[in-house]
Amino acid sequence: MSFSRVAIIGLGLLGGSLGLALREKLPGVETFGYDRDPATRARAAERGLVAQVVDSAAEAVLGCDLVILCVPVGAMQEAAREIAASLPAGAIVSDVGSSKRSVQQALAEALPDHVAIPAHPVAGTEQSGPDAGFPSLFDGRWCILTPPANAPQDAVERLAELWRDLGARVEIMDAEHHDLVLAVTSHIPHLIAYTIVGTASDMEDVTRSEVIKYSAGGFRDFTRIAASDPVMWRDVFLNNRDAVLEMLGRFTEDLTALQRAIRAGDGDTLHELFSRTRDIRRSIIDEGQDDAAPDFGRDH
Ligand code: NAP
Repeated sequence: MSFSRVAIIGLGLLGGSLGLALREKLPGVETFGYDRDPATRARAAERGLVAQVVDSAAEAVLGCDLVILCVPVGAMQEAAREIAASLPAGAIVSDVGSSKRSVQQALAEALPDHVAIPAHPVAGTEQSGPDAGFPSLFDGRWCILTPPANAPQDAVERLAELWRDLGARVEIMDAEHHDLVLAVTSHIPHLIAYTIVGTASDMEDVTRSEVIKYSAGGFRDFTRIAASDPVMWRDVFLNNRDAVLEMLGRFTEDLTALQRAIRAGDGDTLHELFSRTRDIRRSIIDEGQDDAAPDFGRDH
């Protein structure tokens, strides 16, 4: 067991899942939790997301050897500042934020005397809040650690071991590379979903009821992503601005090329691309990152 006492700050989808996974898979680890919203704290205590829910971040981290910040990326620095004075010497601080460069900087500034190892479990759903968490969220998923250059190797290994114990596979990357990879695999897809759903809801010549009635044609699958938490995603785009803008430039060029192919009646270009993309879907299933059931296993 790499840690004996873990504090979780933020008890929504990620914090709740982490607490439940710790309690189920590492029952010898003591768990403490805090969320700034009293209603979330009450619900977290009812659901037993952690063994003990307390009334301040400073109290949650007392005596802990690991603290994991599970708040939106824009709130990481504030959360880190709240724990700074009561954090035990030698405690490791980590997080689960979806972008890493800004979090690494925020933790280094707020906690200059502590070891901070940012992390991102690439696992989630479109739900948020204290009812959304479940203990198997990390099973078979990747957790990316982005240790700063000066992070002690044994601390990185202890954190990696914890995530493996929770069911995840661990990869180590530098924060810049993480942000670029996740911009293309997660952040741009969310931006596209937000755009399509927004565009459809603003249309004048196709009614809202038609959009909803015929949504099974593809729109419905974008609405799952576009239902994701607005605060969390606002913060992701504000904090991973450079990588998102770089990838968005590439995406816009590719979209323009497709527009040209459609206008020119160039079926070969369309067919070649659509065949390549189908292969990507097969690789995701082969890698165990999704189910092969048709239509995402929906009951028909
Ligand atoms: P969530 O369900 O909304 O939970 C976040 C919780 O943190 C909320 O209860 C929020 O309270 C609380 N909070 C905000 N600021 C705080 C502070 N300063 N101190 C204490 N609590 C605070 O969001 P989530 O989906 O768990 O996301 C948490 C983190 O995980 C984010 O950084 C996100 O990027 C990352 N992540 C999310 C996913 C995903 O699919 N959702 C996947 C991987 C990583 P209020 O409601 O009062 O604001």
